[in-house]
Amino acid sequence: MLRRPAASVHIRDEKRVDIGGIGHCDGGSVDLSCRWDSFRQRDKNQMSDSMQQKLADLEAASRLLEPASNQRSQLTDSATEHAEEFLSTLEDRAAYDASEEPGAALDGSPIAEDPIAVDQALALFSESVVRPGIAPASPKHFGYVPGGGIYHSAIADYLAAVSNKYAGAYFAGPGAVRMERMVVKWMAQFLGYPETAAGDLTSGGSIANLLAIITARESAELKARHFENSPIYITAHTHHSVMKAMMCAGVRECPVREIVLDQQMRMDAEALESMIAADLAAGLNPWLIIATAGSTDVGAVDPLPEIADIAAENGVWLHVDGAYGAPFALCASGKAALAGIERADSITIDPHKGLFLPYGSGALVVREGAKLRNAFRFDAHYMQDMPAPADTDDASAMDMSLELSRHYRGLRLWLPLQLVGVKPFRAALEEKMLLARHFHARVSEIDGFEVGMAPDLSIVTFRYLPKAGDPNDFNKKLVNAIQDDGECFISSTRIDDKFMLRLAVLCFRSHREHVDRFVDILLREIGRLRERSPFC
Ligand SMILES: *Cc1c(COP(=O)(O)O)cnc(C)c1O
Repeated sequence: MLRRPAASVHIRDEKRVDIGGIGHCDGGSVDLSCRWDSFRQRDKNQMSDSMQQKLADLEAASRLLEPASNQRSQLTDSATEHAEEFLSTLEDRAAYDASEEPGAALDGSPIAEDPIAVDQALALFSESVVRPGIAPASPKHFGYVPGGGIYHSAIADYLAAVSNKYAGAYFAGPGAVRMERMVVKWMAQFLGYPETAAGDLTSGGSIANLLAIITARESAELKARHFENSPIYITAHTHHSVMKAMMCAGVRECPVREIVLDQQMRMDAEALESMIAADLAAGLNPWLIIATAGSTDVGAVDPLPEIADIAAENGVWLHVDGAYGAPFALCASGKAALAGIERADSITIDPHKGLFLPYGSGALVVREGAKLRNAFRFDAHYMQDMPAPADTDDASAMDMSLELSRHYRGLRLWLPLQLVGVKPFRAALEEKMLLARHFHARVSEIDGFEVGMAPDLSIVTFRYLPKAGDPNDFNKKLVNAIQDDGECFISSTRIDDKFMLRLAVLCFRSHREHVDRFVDILLREIGRLRERSPFC
C-alpha cells in the first residue's frame, strides 16, 4: 500500500503561493500530500494532463538556460568584441577613475524576472564596473600590489566554466586534479622545494596564510590549552592577513612577538634569536615564525637563511609569506634575492600577483606535503565512492584545504604556461625588478627627493621634500593630485611616521615607457603644487 508522503515546506512569505501544481500554500507551510488522493485515483502509470502541461511549461522556461548554438555564438562574439575594445584602448585609459557615484547605474537594472539584452548588460558592466576605480589591467597601475590578467587565463577560465570540471577530488576530475598538482609542483620546484612538497591553489594569499597557520598548528599538535604559552614571531611589516588568519585559526591567545626591523626594513634575525632564547628560558614553547618575502610596504625580503637557521635550531615552523615576492624566484635576480626560501616549512605565493593571473589565484606550498594533508583530510559517508587517497601524492584539493567545491583554478595557470612557455614569465619578472631599479636611480638623481632603500624586488618608496612646510602634508597632496589626474596610479604608506609614496611595478604590461611616463607626471604634479604654494 502506498503511504502518504508527509512533506511540508516552510515558506517565508505569508501570501498564498502556487508551488507548481503539486500543492499550494496558504501561509506558513505547504502540505504536499493534498493532491495525492487524486493521483491515486487515476491510472498509476498515466500522468495527469495538468501535470504534463505543467512539466512542458517548466521545461520550456528552464530551457532558456541553454542557449542554442547560434545564440551562443552571438554571446561569445559580443563578449570578445567587448574584450577587444577594452584591450585595444587600455593604454589610453585612466589607471584610476574617481567618478562620482561609481556603479550607481547598476541599480537602474535590478535583478528581475525578465531579461535584458546582452549589449545592455555589457554596457552596464563597462560603465559601472570596468570604468570606475583602479584599472588593475592597466600598464600604468603602480599602486598597492598590481594585478595581472593575462588573456590566456581568461580563455582558460572560459573553458573551465563551460566544462565545469570538478577539481576538488581525483575521483570526480582526475585530469583536473593532476593538472593542479602539476602547476603546484612547478611552483614548488622553482621555489627550490624537494619532491615531498605539496600544495593547494587557493583564492588568494590570505587563505593560503590561513592554511599555513592551521597546518603549523596541527603539525605542532597544539591544543587550546597550550596557546598562552606558545609564542608566534612576526614583524610590524607582516601583512595584516596574517593577523586575520591567526584569529580564524583560533590561536589568538598565542603571544605575538613583534621582532624589530633592521635598517633595510627586514626582520632583525639577531633580535629574533634572542627573543626565542628568552621565551625558551621562560619555559615557553615557540612554534611559529612568519617571515615575509616581499613586504607590502616596501617590498623587503626578510633574511631567510638566518631565520631558517634559527627555526631549524629551535624546531619552530617557518612560514614565508611570499604572496607578492615568491613568484620572483622564477627569475635569476629574484632567485638571488629570495635565497633561503626553500628552507621554509611553507610558502604563500600568489599567482594573481607575480604570475600575472587574474584575481582569484593564490597558493600555499608545504615542504612536507604530508603535513598539509594531515591537517585537512576529512571523510564523509556520502563520499564513500571515492577511494581514500594513498598517503603519498594521491591527494586532491579537498584533502588539502578548507574548500570542497571550488573554482577549477589550475587551468588558468596551466594553459598560459603551455601556450607561451615559462620564458616570458621569467623575462617579465626580471624586467619588473630592473624597472624598479631604474625608477629608484632616476628619482635619486632628481633634486628634492628622498628615496627609500634600493628595491629588494620591485617596490620603491620615496617622497618629495619641500623647501618649506610639512613634508607629510605635501606628499599627501602629491599622491592625491596624481590619483585625481588618474593617468597613472600609485599609493602611499607610512614609514616611521613619514608619509611615503610608493611605486610597485608588477603588472606584466608595465614597461620602461610607462615608468618614464610616471616620472614625467610626478614632476609635473610637483611643479603644479609648488606653483600653488611657491615657498615649497
Ligand atoms: C597580497 C598579500 C597578501 C594577501 O593576499 P591576497 O591574495 O590579497 O589575499 C598577503 N601577504 C602579502 C605579503 C601580500 O602581498
